[in-house]
Amino acid sequence: MSTTESDARQPGSATDARVVGETARRRTFAVISHPDAGKSTLTEALALHAEVIDSAGAVHGKSGRKGVTSDWMEMERARGISVSSAVLQFAYRDCVINLLDTPGHGDFSEDTYRVLAAVDAAVMLLDAAKGLEPQTLKLFDVCRSRGVPIVTFVNKWDRPGREALELLDEVEQTIGLRPMPLTWPLGIAGQFKGLIERTTGEYTAFTRAAGGATKATAHVVDAETIAAQEPEYWQNAQDELGLLDEIGAGFDEEGFRSGKATPVLFGSALSNIGVARLLDSLVDLAPPPAPRPDVKGDDRPLEAPTSGLIFKVQAGMDKAHRDRMAFLRICSGRFERGMVLTHAATGKPFATKYAQSVFGAERKTVEEAFPGDIVGLVNATALRPGDTLYAADPVEFPSIPAFAPEHFAVIRAKDAGKYKQFRKGIEQLGNEAVIQILRSDLRGDQAPVLAAVGPLQFDVVTTRLETEFNAPVTLDRLPYQIARLVDPEAVEALAGQSECEVLRRASDGEHLALFTNKWRMDIIQRKFPDMRFEAMPAGS
Ligand code: GDP
Repeated sequence: MSTTESDARQPGSATDARVVGETARRRTFAVISHPDAGKSTLTEALALHAEVIDSAGAVHGKSGRKGVTSDWMEMERARGISVSSAVLQFAYRDCVINLLDTPGHGDFSEDTYRVLAAVDAAVMLLDAAKGLEPQTLKLFDVCRSRGVPIVTFVNKWDRPGREALELLDEVEQTIGLRPMPLTWPLGIAGQFKGLIERTTGEYTAFTRAAGGATKATAHVVDAETIAAQEPEYWQNAQDELGLLDEIGAGFDEEGFRSGKATPVLFGSALSNIGVARLLDSLVDLAPPPAPRPDVKGDDRPLEAPTSGLIFKVQAGMDKAHRDRMAFLRICSGRFERGMVLTHAATGKPFATKYAQSVFGAERKTVEEAFPGDIVGLVNATALRPGDTLYAADPVEFPSIPAFAPEHFAVIRAKDAGKYKQFRKGIEQLGNEAVIQILRSDLRGDQAPVLAAVGPLQFDVVTTRLETEFNAPVTLDRLPYQIARLVDPEAVEALAGQSECEVLRRASDGEHLALFTNKWRMDIIQRKFPDMRFEAMPAGS
């Protein structure tokens, strides 16, 4: 045991004070949005702001931008979607910001769900022309179910869009989240002039530089000058601000933290408008990490010995490092590279010699981390999403539930000679929770069933088996659409039923009954009224 661990167990020790102080300056959040709302652009803008990277594009590897060298990200590049999540840590003012990336595509909602289990706040990014879109709504529901406070950023204000008040109204009416604008735009979307601070009335003008540069420069202009320059817009904005004051849309901290109200900011990620204001809001308003409840519902104090939750496992992130990385969100104590933690699921020790931070292709060794920080653990083959690691004082955090799969397919090795590679690959992808793996005696080990929340997960599996494991496969879709958790006895009891099959999930040993449709499921339930058919959280 290291001295730091024993220090951490003595109340009032220097380590305790440091943990508490460092935790207070952490802000750990993710951006949730519908694809194309501008999440990658915003992430880059935030990172540029914090001067972590020096050119746009070094963060994400979408087509036309430089940066990502991961081979299996080729697929996302080709498809223009973001499959994997990464973590960006940077300093801003006196805070340490941990920004967790989430995949935008709905087929990877499980992955996003896991990421949202590791954050303390979320930024809901809206396209000013589109407002709330389906994927935003879905992700919002996840945030709400987890009680994650949300800051709203209305993006693309530099181009034609909807009215600000109309967008706020939509947020309130559709999802029942009370908007509390912190800034107010001068000029309609597309004719954007600047931002008015609601509490102080201070006005910041944004001007785009000539010569095609996309970044705008900001300068504070006094109210009289701008009122004379833009009388119509100014008057309009004042009227709207008056209206907002009347309806009492002022900032309410309790409403924000309890997930009932959302601070709203306007801007343009592409032009770097309102991005610093967003960071300021996160620093000033978003909650720092709080003690996390364990499986028994007791909070693990922040200054308790080191503990953390694995929320994501990913392999093949980079050609140069063909390995597997488990992402650990620190929940208590001080993490120090090299410390030996216990894997709560198995009771086995886990050495953290290879602790790294990862963003895209960039990796750095992490020497220490505090609650709210994310540590990448290399070659952590035994770790799965939802697992707890702890030092000294045992703890287990609630696992992250698996979503209800809605797409099913039998997978087989194309070439019998590659069966060994196939089996290894399937096992690993199952461990990473890329997809759920179901088996039954009837089907045998050679032909497991893949169960996915979204069909793109099948593409990830087949691509990775081929490229990483050199095991080409065939995939045959099955006609099932619904899965329910059942007791093991259902394997025999339902054996003769048509359009129904019971399989065992490799990750947790749970039995899943698959049905072709709800109608069929209802009939079978009527035949077996005492049998438990338990729904899982819906991913779509
Ligand atoms: P993501 O799918 O949410 O990650 O979205 P991207 O960041 O890739 O952005 C989608 C498109 O919207 C890209 O063409 C961006 O250049 C564009 N975009 C993002 N933010 C803004 C913005 O503030 N203004 C304008 N005009 N375009 C933007």
